[in-house]
Amino acid sequence: TIGALALDAKGNLAGACTTSGAAYKMHGRVGDSPLIGAGLFVDGEIGAACATGLGEAVIRTAGSAMVVEQMRNGKSPAEACEIVVKRIIKTHQNKLENLQVGFLALNKDGEYGGYSIRNGFNFAVVDSKDGNRMEDSPFKM
Ligand code: ASP
Repeated sequence: TIGALALDAKGNLAGACTTSGAAYKMHGRVGDSPLIGAGLFVDGEIGAACATGLGEAVIRTAGSAMVVEQMRNGKSPAEACEIVVKRIIKTHQNKLENLQVGFLALNKDGEYGGYSIRNGFNFAVVDSKDGNRMEDSPFKM
């Protein structure tokens, strides 16, 4: 998945995502990326979030919407992503092998963060102050 979250100088939030789906997927499978609330969610009052990884796990938790709700309840973007990733880990206890899910989040104040189940979830950041850079998301395993 490629997910992008943006905040403009006037405080407007936007998000987009695209995916090639899952390897060996069933014909007609719909992943999380085209489902608002699962692979992507933007609430102009609070923040935005997007997901990558196993779409079925993200859909079952309404992942990106849950990340935004955590921010609504006062969590930072990084904390919000961590809470929802840990919830997914809990509900997949018996089939964690090879499971990867990662979230990226941005709030109205321009704070951002990510969290993933496994190592290897990196994201690019661009802002007017520091330009372009890559950052590694923290991960659980
Ligand atoms: N989230 C996508 C899907 O399950 C896979 C990906 O990360 O590209 O369709």
